[in-house]
Amino acid sequence: MEPLSDFLAKLSVPRTPALVVRRAALEANLAAMQAACDAAGVKLRPHGKMAKCSRLSLRQQELGAVGVCCQTVGEAEAYAAAGVSDLLISAPVPPWGWPVLAQLAGQGVRVSAVVDSEAQIALAPPGISLLVDVDGGQHRSGARFEDVPALVRAVLDVGHHWGGLQCYVGTLQADPGRGPAHAALMARLRALVEALRADGMDPASVTGGGTGTAPLDLAAGVFTEIQAGSYALMDVAYGKAGATYETALLLAASVVSAQWKSHVTIDSGLKALSADGPPARILAGAPEGSRFFFQGDEHGGLLHPAAAEAMKAQGLAAVEVLEADPAFARPDWPADGSLVWLQPGHVDPTVNLHDALWIADEDGALERWAVDARRTTP
Ligand code: PLP
Ligand code: MN
Repeated sequence: MEPLSDFLAKLSVPRTPALVVRRAALEANLAAMQAACDAAGVKLRPHGKMAKCSRLSLRQQELGAVGVCCQTVGEAEAYAAAGVSDLLISAPVPPWGWPVLAQLAGQGVRVSAVVDSEAQIALAPPGISLLVDVDGGQHRSGARFEDVPALVRAVLDVGHHWGGLQCYVGTLQADPGRGPAHAALMARLRALVEALRADGMDPASVTGGGTGTAPLDLAAGVFTEIQAGSYALMDVAYGKAGATYETALLLAASVVSAQWKSHVTIDSGLKALSADGPPARILAGAPEGSRFFFQGDEHGGLLHPAAAEAMKAQGLAAVEVLEADPAFARPDWPADGSLVWLQPGHVDPTVNLHDALWIADEDGALERWAVDARRTTP
């Protein structure tokens, strides 16, 4: 791939804000994760909550993925409608969701779902494979390790297909010191699998893992399937956490006001970038060291590095004061109307704010992929 700046120089988008995906980076990421899984003999079921985009999911399947993970019933409906034929609902299903899933299963889609209680098992309709969700320490969902064998028996007793186990721990994904905790978790999970086997209950699938833990997940030899999502597009958070995938997801924004020395205003705020992760990283269009900050629903600001320094030195929060600072020249500052490129802080909730991903070839050609698996109200 050529340098990012050369690639960006060729790109233009019909409107801003727009999410652009550099196809070469996406393809490199998809190939790298699939190759790592193949080498470990582990299946890859990428998480579909990340991009909520059936075109992406179908591409992942072309490259060897076994299906898609869904976090919501709405995602499952959308992915099924787009032709994804193997769905795992990796989060607890609310009562209203079971009939919806039964309908998908009735249409010939392979549907699996996790359960962590007898009440959920009682609600689950036949025709859906049930996996027992195991709480690996995040306490978001999943049964306690010691309660898992009884739940597996409960699944079998009501005559459901038992698909195996899920254990996903989000809190380990971004923790660089995760090694010992991850190893301890794998030891517990391995012991659980062995105990179930000794009781004649061999789990067909042991699924879990994410972009952060993937190398450890694949090396541990306990999982038969991993559920990574963010690796495909990447974000600032995973970059900070040391994930080595290419930056594929970019936000194109326009400078819409440039009145101050300290900052310019762009047309991308809380409705274009999620605010929960680290701030978006400025990739091009503003001087090195500029920082993004939110300026409301539809607007963000780019703070000049000299302004940030001056503000720090003077203990200031107000930008007006900096206007008078003679040391604060900015010949390199973007002009009103110019295009700026950012990397979103956190991919999943950012993509959820957009209708489309613009897939960009190295020559600048764009293809529109709909973000078609967002939460929908029928
Ligand atoms: N599996 C489940 C159940 C998740 O909730 C997540 C993310 O939150 C993932 C897998 C992996 O996602 P990522 O690779 O983006 O961390
Ligand atoms: Mn995420």
